[in-house]
Amino acid sequence: MTLEQFQHQFSSEAICADALFRLKWPDGFRCPRCENSSFYVVKTRRIPLYECQKCRHQTTVTSGTIMEGAERNCANGSQLSFSSSA
Ligand SMILES: [Zn+2]
Repeated sequence: MTLEQFQHQFSSEAICADALFRLKWPDGFRCPRCENSSFYVVKTRRIPLYECQKCRHQTTVTSGTIMEGAERNCANGSQLSFSSSA
C-alpha cells in the first residue's frame, strides 16, 4: 500500500489514529523508551498522544515510522507541532 492509498483509505481521523496505532503496535502499546505496556492517552490534540505510565515518555502513533507526516493528513490539514522528543 502506498502512503497515498493509505491516506485515502483512512480519511477519518478516528479510524486513522486507530489504524496507525495497530500498525505501530500490532501487539499492543510498547513504550519506545522503557518497553512498558501501560499508557495514558492524551487527547488534547486531534491526533492522540500516548504517554507511558512508567517513564512518562510521550509518543504519537507515527513518530519514528514511515507514516510520519500521515498524521497531518489525518488531522485534515491542521498544522500540529508535536513537542515529543522523537
Ligand atoms: Zn516508558
